[in-house]
Amino acid sequence: MPTETNEPNKLDKLITLCKQRGIIYPGSEIYGGLANSWHFGPYGAVLKNNIRQAWLKHFVFSRSDVVLLESAVIMNPKIWEASGHLQNFTDPLVDCKRCQKRFRADHLLEAKSLEPGYSREKPVDWSEIRCPECGGELTEVRQFNLMFKTHIGPVEEAGSEAYLRPEHAGGMFTDFKIIQQTLRRRLPFGIAQIGKIFRNEITPGNWIFRTREFEIMELEYFVEPDAWQPAFTMWLEAMKTWLKSLGVKESELVFHEIEDGERAHYSKRTIDIEYNYPFGQKELYGLAYRTDYDLSQHAKYSGQDLSYTDPISGQTFMPHVVEPSMGLERTMLVTLLSAYHEEAAPTAKAGETETRIVLKLPLHLAPVQVAVLPLSKNEQLSAPAQQLADSLRPQFVVEYDETQSIGRRYRRQDEIGTPFCITIDFDTLQDKAVTVRERDSMKQERIALDQVISYLSTKFKVN
Ligand code: ATP
Repeated sequence: MPTETNEPNKLDKLITLCKQRGIIYPGSEIYGGLANSWHFGPYGAVLKNNIRQAWLKHFVFSRSDVVLLESAVIMNPKIWEASGHLQNFTDPLVDCKRCQKRFRADHLLEAKSLEPGYSREKPVDWSEIRCPECGGELTEVRQFNLMFKTHIGPVEEAGSEAYLRPEHAGGMFTDFKIIQQTLRRRLPFGIAQIGKIFRNEITPGNWIFRTREFEIMELEYFVEPDAWQPAFTMWLEAMKTWLKSLGVKESELVFHEIEDGERAHYSKRTIDIEYNYPFGQKELYGLAYRTDYDLSQHAKYSGQDLSYTDPISGQTFMPHVVEPSMGLERTMLVTLLSAYHEEAAPTAKAGETETRIVLKLPLHLAPVQVAVLPLSKNEQLSAPAQQLADSLRPQFVVEYDETQSIGRRYRRQDEIGTPFCITIDFDTLQDKAVTVRERDSMKQERIALDQVISYLSTKFKVN
């Protein structure tokens, strides 16, 4: 009974699994929780880190034209004035006059457009839209700024106001010139960044899909003004191959060209990569052509010259920018949804099967790479098994587990996506060999103890 489609209850099953298996917990739970905040448990934290490392390899270290930056979370507030975030980084908000619930007006319109009988030619009359919770009348639409405001220093006064960054771009644009000059970079080149950002979302939800603090993996790629189109195509391809490397099927993706009037204020072309989540088709990633809007704005507001002079042609101009932007938590969500499988597996009794849940994560993302499992707690087995686990630890992420039946331990490892389980049994003491079980096929093979490291190295391609 494989679950290949994103049926609605697949998400509930995944949330339950992730809580039980130390991947993702509800945040602040012992105090009753904090709505839509999540903690990444021991395996989730490693999975997230493996995704970061894979992203850096794919988008930064395997290329010669991208460098990494880590800018501050709290920056000079003028940055947000120059970038337009103070004025424009808003979402349309409506309140229900009856139940007082708040909604994003564009989401209500979007939901309406999915109703049968909706036609693009005859758009909805806003007054027809009622509260989706209680059917009450809604207030007028107001614009709500998503930036979290804070104060620098001990006194909360007007001059001390600052903002938690709502995106990385600001830091990458303000540092463009110093990076270009100190690293002696010629166009085209990119500046990449991974880190936390903060948005006071009106309606967070759908687990880790929309939260108020999250990480973005993003890069600004600086090009000559007429060279943005090939760069746009190149990054779209890079995003496609990246998603493939996570195990995400192309058939689950929709490439949505955002129309004029619907794009962010800085963008001349945007493609949203959308995914068919169990709760509907929604944005996964964005790719935007930001023109020279940001550099020009920061030059104007800072009074600094941010233009670029090509060392060969001698031409001076403001670079244009293509920006691929990828949320880390949404990446984790689609990776987990793609990896989650339920299938019939044989039990110890001949002819009987039971459902096994398995996370078929790509090998390089699995939080535990190999589990060492002595067949029983017997000292004769646990001593060599501990020894094997210790010998593997310098190269692999290893888990040692000797409690419960071997069947239950396999199932536990399947549920966190461990690609290989090594069992040590009484035969091992005689033949100096172990059984290696592969997660997806459940095939078992006997490997000599002194060959285990090279066997695993080949599988994980460790040199
Ligand atoms: P949405 O339309 O879903 O609000 P957006 O267009 O505002 O997203 P961007 O500003 O393009 O999103 O952000 C870049 C990426 O960050 C998105 O493609 C997505 O992967 C991720 N992202 C955006 N908002 C959130 C959020 N609230 N929680 C988690 N990830 C997010």
